[in-house]
Amino acid sequence: MANCSHNCEECNQDCSERSFLAPMNQHSNVKKVIGVVSGKGGVGKSSITALLALLKQREGKKVAILDGDITGPSIGRVFGVEHQQLLSNGEDIIPVTSTAGTKIISANLMLETSDTPVIWRGPVLAGLIKQFWSDVVWGDIDYMFVDMPPGTGDVPLTVFQSLPLDGIVIVTSPQELVGMIVGKAVNMAKQMNIPIIGLVENMSYVKCPDCDKKIYIFGKSHGQETADQYGLDLLGQLPLDSELTQLSDLGKVEDFYAPWLENFSEKIKNI
Ligand code: ADP
Repeated sequence: MANCSHNCEECNQDCSERSFLAPMNQHSNVKKVIGVVSGKGGVGKSSITALLALLKQREGKKVAILDGDITGPSIGRVFGVEHQQLLSNGEDIIPVTSTAGTKIISANLMLETSDTPVIWRGPVLAGLIKQFWSDVVWGDIDYMFVDMPPGTGDVPLTVFQSLPLDGIVIVTSPQELVGMIVGKAVNMAKQMNIPIIGLVENMSYVKCPDCDKKIYIFGKSHGQETADQYGLDLLGQLPLDSELTQLSDLGKVEDFYAPWLENFSEKIKNI
């Protein structure tokens, strides 16, 4: 909804989402909430969430990440904050802050060890995500990126309903584009009346280190075709870049620079 303040308690509009939406914390002022979704796990949804956040951070914006991928949280690790302590006054929770200044909340920060499995069922997971939104003191934020649970099942659906998403970015891999998985994510967003900002084809190719030639290891790219099919903006066809993997594993994703990232940065300037 246009001009939505994301605070249903202060609003007298009668919109379809209001009964499910969790209220924003009274000490928070989050201007844009953008969900990053994928039809299945492992396509790079968390990595793209991290890249979107660091690019907006480099634009000078105030940025936050809500790690909604509760059963496979990786945002804490790639930003190197997983050992930081979450602070709470018993009521509100203070998010941790990355080296570059991105505020982060993730289930990993609450677990005893990072390899503790999360075996909660859907309603508990959805409740925790609502808590991440309502009980966390986010302060002033220009862009919050939500790393959504993968897939189009019950848990992502509840997250769609609980958070006041202004738009979503759909992340896919070349193999996924051939199937119906993107279509499912598109239809879920349409049913929830959430605008789709665009499509990112991740791991689209690798660049030969000797001759710079693009090698399409998963076969011909279908990114543009699929974007056209669903009337979406193709935000990027990003390569498989081993430096991104390495820096993410070291918790230093914010040190990542690459020529291809410049193009992606240009493309997302106006989101
Ligand atoms: P998802 O969130 O969809 O499960 P991740 O973002 O965790 O996927 O990515 C899975 C693995 O692939 C991680 O080890 C990540 O560092 C790596 N990865 C993702 N995208 C890229 C990329 N474009 N280049 C190199 N490695 C990548």
